[in-house]
Amino acid sequence: MAPLGDSKKQKKVSLPRLELSAALLLSHLYHKVNTSIALNTQPFFWSDSTITLHWINSVPSRWKTFVANRVSEVQHLTTNGVWAHVSGMDNPADIISRVMEASQLEESSAWWTGPSWLKQPSRFWPPVLQSDLPELTVESLEERSVSLPVRDHEPNEIFGLRSSFISLVRLTAMLRRFIHNSKPDIRSNRKIGFLRTSELNQATTTLVQLAQSEVFSNDIDAIATEGQVKSNSLLKNLCPVLRDGILRVGGRLRNADIPEDRKHPMILPARHLLTASIMSHYHQKHLHAGPHLLVACVREKFWPLRIRNLARNVVHSCINCFRCKPSALEQLMGDLPAERVTPTLPFLNTGVDLCGPFQFRKLRKDQPTKCYVAIFICLVTKAIHIELVYDLSTAAFIAALHRFMSRRGKPHVIHCDNAQNFKGAVRELAELRKQFYSQKHKAAVVNRCADDGIQFKFIPPCSPNFGWLWEAAV
Ligand SMILES: [Zn+2]
Repeated sequence: MAPLGDSKKQKKVSLPRLELSAALLLSHLYHKVNTSIALNTQPFFWSDSTITLHWINSVPSRWKTFVANRVSEVQHLTTNGVWAHVSGMDNPADIISRVMEASQLEESSAWWTGPSWLKQPSRFWPPVLQSDLPELTVESLEERSVSLPVRDHEPNEIFGLRSSFISLVRLTAMLRRFIHNSKPDIRSNRKIGFLRTSELNQATTTLVQLAQSEVFSNDIDAIATEGQVKSNSLLKNLCPVLRDGILRVGGRLRNADIPEDRKHPMILPARHLLTASIMSHYHQKHLHAGPHLLVACVREKFWPLRIRNLARNVVHSCINCFRCKPSALEQLMGDLPAERVTPTLPFLNTGVDLCGPFQFRKLRKDQPTKCYVAIFICLVTKAIHIELVYDLSTAAFIAALHRFMSRRGKPHVIHCDNAQNFKGAVRELAELRKQFYSQKHKAAVVNRCADDGIQFKFIPPCSPNFGWLWEAAV
């Protein structure tokens, strides 16, 4: 029996699913009866749906969720039972689904006592699954689809023989030499002794060629036949070219006067044992180079795809790099001095420093002479004033200081380095100030100037870290 669903609102349940639901109902019924009266015989369950029997006699995980849940429950409830096929003609449950008059139903032996063979011993019963049943398709069985990654080509075994790039190259070179020496026609010209550089280079080329043929075979075929890769190729942006069977980056450096390998590096796949061993080799060869240096070094000869990720992975997975990586001590910086955080007029609190020397000539025909630049920086606004200092003498610095003061006004405090010329300058400034004080009585203006004489503050000797703002400006 099937529920009459509203086809507009409810999704229609397929007939096999209804048959399975009927089988589940039968299982529940059997389970209830069995727990009540404890039948000690092996139960037989009959269904005329071959699909349902297929479902029940198989592992539930093969089927879609609806079927799998019900099959699992049926199997659990009828663990010791046998599910068998009964033809539609012999199935008494089938009679009521067809049109039949009550008088006929009364006389129907199949309705009252079941099919005739059921009264005989079980060996006379039809087989559990009949062989002449129609073939079941995947769609009708509602099999769950499973996706698996499949490789087109298995990687060549040679890449797994050595983890180090150098030993892999040497092994390949020895194999190449063996093949060369085995040829009968060159017995007199056999290669023996140490491996030569040319042999190692040829071995490297052979390895790259092998790796490329595994991953880029379609691109190599496309270039060989059409002269360029297909529009959906990963290598499209590299404009690859085929040189001696090796796929190389095309690029625009054809006319550059640089080695051929650098002009057209060999393309390497991102995920390949060879690429990993090359990256690792270059990392160690360049004394455990960081990601940026590693990228630059590898690209001298090779062009691995997604090289930045590879470089980062190599550096991060290197145990030596991990052990040697020092954790920098980060100390909290002290509070900013009052001069930096108190709003004042520009250049009232000034820092000064000299930088240079620079080359300088007064006239075109003169020999160039050294000069310096004094940088005055306002500690509040960070405004910068630059003055030329002709030499490192005190007089030159005083002159620059005067020019600065003429332009920007007289600063209250000047913070500066502990250089010798400034020590001299403060002596002269003291004399200047003394002179101002001696003329105090003469004029009110001069008096005022002397009162706010410039104060010099020196940082401790040999401690450039004290020079906070002007060092940054220099
Ligand atoms: Zn390292």
